[in-house]
Amino acid sequence: MILINRYIKNRYVCFCMGCILVIGILNALYLKLAEWVPSFSPLLFPTLTIFLLVFHLFIACFMVMRYGCDRRRLYLIAIAFAFVGSALLMVGTLSSFPAWLHYYKRDAINYNDAMVFFSFRHLLMSVLFTASSVLYTLRHRPLSKMFHVAVVSGVVLFTASIVTLAWLYSSKSPLFRVDLIDNETLQFMTLWSQVINIILIILWTGTLLALMIITRVRDLFWHAGNFLCVCYIVTLTMLLFGGHAEDFSWYRARLFETVATLLIIFVLLYDVFNLYRASTLKYQQSYQNSIRDPLTRLYNRSYFYESLTQALTKANANHPVSVIVSDLDRFKRINDCYGHLQGDKVLMFVANLLMDSVRPHDIAARIGGEEFVLMLANTPSDAARQVAERIRLHLSSFDKASSGGQLPETITISMGVFTAESGAMSPEECVECADKAMYEAKETGRNRVVVFH
Ligand code: GH3
Ligand code: MG
Ligand code: MG
Repeated sequence: MILINRYIKNRYVCFCMGCILVIGILNALYLKLAEWVPSFSPLLFPTLTIFLLVFHLFIACFMVMRYGCDRRRLYLIAIAFAFVGSALLMVGTLSSFPAWLHYYKRDAINYNDAMVFFSFRHLLMSVLFTASSVLYTLRHRPLSKMFHVAVVSGVVLFTASIVTLAWLYSSKSPLFRVDLIDNETLQFMTLWSQVINIILIILWTGTLLALMIITRVRDLFWHAGNFLCVCYIVTLTMLLFGGHAEDFSWYRARLFETVATLLIIFVLLYDVFNLYRASTLKYQQSYQNSIRDPLTRLYNRSYFYESLTQALTKANANHPVSVIVSDLDRFKRINDCYGHLQGDKVLMFVANLLMDSVRPHDIAARIGGEEFVLMLANTPSDAARQVAERIRLHLSSFDKASSGGQLPETITISMGVFTAESGAMSPEECVECADKAMYEAKETGRNRVVVFH
């Protein structure tokens, strides 16, 4: 049982099982489809190619944008150009099936050209995927701008060379020529079936191994990348057993490629969604950190003054704004007797009590060491005094046991209330008035609420 559990937890085993499952399902679906459709429309192959072309361009754009957002991901450039080159070579494939555009050219299919573009496409992709896995190992190293330029130039040059070579070897250029399919009989030539097909399988197997070893299939992105390699190996193996160009294996191969490409697109979209979520979360966190006090998580001084400034612009006799300034009594003694850490616990306890005692739209802030302030919008003086009184009584009702050890002894608080009934006074003046009332509370014996008159 433990052995089975360990196997299930192993990423490589999971990945292999996933591949077998998905490929098995796809194959079963394809066989069902082949039973249902005894012969495919000649437009199916170019149609699938058009879909793939668009998908590949889409993936390439995503990869380049992702690299633009995070320059450590240089390896994405190699993958991006693998897809750009692939899309360009698919244009060549499409030109070998002119019927998708030109109705009267239904019989003018050049299967050999399609195979030439197909072979160069796989050569380009497998080499660039391997290059990407090598670049992946450098993602944590500080790379110079020159290195980035060199890699991008190298990748562009390689892609351009392969695309040019494919074009030169196709019937579009008289310069070179290679026979992979007999356009009369549609039979695969020996050069394809016994040499190039096998070389491409070996190339993709090497790429898959490099990717698996280097990336350790560590995240969803590499799961999709490795799955694409597996699909290409399966595709090429199917072609190895296929006899000729209109064979079912030809269509099955394209189906596998389309599904694997779709999977990569879903993974990329998921990646973008995750990035967006993470950056929103980070923004929210840093915004909260900028407006809150780190110890108590109450609002900080600047946020309090900002909110009070805004509230005062709307203040009038019907919508008064009350400010309550509070200062813990004899707090220095708590620090001296029980230590600073215990003092901090007291501050956190009082902060939570203040937060829980006001409405969600009221502002509770820490404006000094053990000085707190509350801003109660739409609250007249008497109601504000009642709130302050409630808080004072509530705090003084706790002792060490009932506070769960947060307070080393009973703590009291002195509070001053000021209410603004117009926007005539500045926020600082309002706080000063409440502060004066608080000092009066201190002077008249502490543990009390005084309203400024
Ligand atoms: P009073 O009743 O007159 O207010 O007496 P008090 O001892 O509370 O006097 P005061 O308000 O001047 O004392 C403030 C003390 O608060 C001094 C300082 O040691 C303590 N203090 C300020 N900030 C912090 C803090 O972040 N953590 C802790 N533990 N103590 C703090
Ligand atoms: Mg004090
Ligand atoms: Mg003080």
